[in-house]
Amino acid sequence: AATGAPRRLTILGSTGSIGKSTIDLVSRNRDRYRVVALTANANAEALAAQARDLGAEVAVVADPKAYGALKAALAGSGIEAAAGPEAVVEAAARPADWTMAAIVGAAGLAPTLAAVAQGRTVALANKECLVCAGDLFMREVKRHGTTLLPVDSEHNAIFQVFDFDRPERIDHLILTASGGPFRDWSREAMALATPEQAVAHPNWSMGAKISVDSASMFNKGLEFIEAYHLFGLPGDRIRILVHPQSVIHSAVAYVDGSVLAQLGSPDMRTPIAFCLAWPDRMNAPVPRLDLAAQARLDFRDPDPERFPALRIVREALARGGVAPTAMNAANEVAVAAFLGRQIGFLDIPAVVETTMNAVMAGPLGNQAVSALEAVLAVDAEARRLAAGHAERLAAA
Ligand code: NAD
Ligand code: MG
Repeated sequence: AATGAPRRLTILGSTGSIGKSTIDLVSRNRDRYRVVALTANANAEALAAQARDLGAEVAVVADPKAYGALKAALAGSGIEAAAGPEAVVEAAARPADWTMAAIVGAAGLAPTLAAVAQGRTVALANKECLVCAGDLFMREVKRHGTTLLPVDSEHNAIFQVFDFDRPERIDHLILTASGGPFRDWSREAMALATPEQAVAHPNWSMGAKISVDSASMFNKGLEFIEAYHLFGLPGDRIRILVHPQSVIHSAVAYVDGSVLAQLGSPDMRTPIAFCLAWPDRMNAPVPRLDLAAQARLDFRDPDPERFPALRIVREALARGGVAPTAMNAANEVAVAAFLGRQIGFLDIPAVVETTMNAVMAGPLGNQAVSALEAVLAVDAEARRLAAGHAERLAAA
C-alpha cells in the first residue's frame, strides 16, 4: 500500500553497481522507506556517506581492516558501525521488510541466507547464491515462506511473464544474452584480451566481476543455473539466445506457441524498481524504450566454440550435486587472476573446467547441496585448486 508505515529496508552490497542503483531509487522516495542496514566489503568512506545520507541504523564492512575508517567516518552520527563477515550476517538478520542481496560472489551466500530466514522479501541480484547452493537456497526460501524476487534483468523479465499458476503450460524459457564485448571477436583475439577490454560492456555498466563474466559468457551460464532453480525447468528447456541490443530481456514460450517477453532499455533500475514496488509499480528514471528509434532487433545462437563457458555450465548442471558450487568458486578465482593480469582471458574456462573435474573426482565430490558447511567446504577446496592452477599458468 502507498500509505502506512515506511518499509524497513536493508541493502547488502550497497556500495556496488546494483547497490548504488537501489539507493538512487530509494533516495527519490525517502518517505516510503526506512533503512536498517547497509553493508560493503572495504569501502568505508562510501558506505558511511550512504549511511549518513539515508539515516541507516547500522553500517557494516566485511573487511575487519576497514573498521577504524568506518568508525571514524560515522563519528557523531549515531549510526552503529561493525566489521567482519559475521557482522554482515548479523546485519542481514536484523528485521527488515525488504532486503536487496547485491554482494558479488559466494561471499554473499551466508548473509543472503540470513535475510531469507526472516521470511520476508528478498530481492536477489547475487546470482552466485543460486549457482553455488541452489538446492539449499530454494529449500530455505520455501521453508521460511520468503518472497524471492529476481533482480537479474533476464530472470526479472521471465518472472513478469511466467504463469506461476500453470507452469505445466510452459514449453521453454528463452534467456537472452548481449554476447558481451567479445561477441564478434575471434578466439585468437580473445586470447590476448586485456582486463580493460573485458570490462568495457557495450550495453550495461556493471561491477568488474560480472563484466568479465559477461565477456566470457559465464554470466549467461550462471544465469542458466539461476533460471533452473528459480523457475524449475530442466536445462534442456532453457534456451540461450544472443540478442546484441539487450532490449528483449528474456521470454517464456508456451505450449500454444505464444512467446511472452519483457522489453525495456538496458538499465538495471527497471528490474530493481520492479522488486522495490512489487506487486505495485513505481516510477523509474530510466530512458524510455522507443521501438521506432530502435528500428531493429537481432538474434542468433551462441557460438559454443568461442564461448566454452556455455558447455561447462550445462555439464555442471547435468552432473548436479556440488559441481556448480566448484565451478562457481573456480570462476571467481579465475576472474580475479585475469583481472590481476596473472592469466589470460581464455585461461578462465580452462581453470574452471579443470577445477570442477578435480573437485568432483576428489573426496568432496559426492556430496549433496544440503548444508551450508558442505557448500563452503567445496567452495574453499575449489578456490585452493583454482588458485594453484592459476599460479602454475602465471609461472609458465
Ligand atoms: P559490484 O562489484 O559493483 O558490487 C559488489 C558489492 O558487494 C559491493 O558493495 C562490495 O563492497 C560488496 N562486496 C564485495 N565483496 C564482498 C565480500 N567478500 N563480503 C561482503 N561484501 C562484499 O558488483 P555488482 O555489479 O553490483 O553485482 C552485484 C551482484 O549482482 C553480482 O552477483 C552480480 O552478478 C549481480 N548482478 C549485477 C548486475 C549489474 O548490472 N551490475 C546485473 C545483474 C546481476
Ligand atoms: Mg543478467
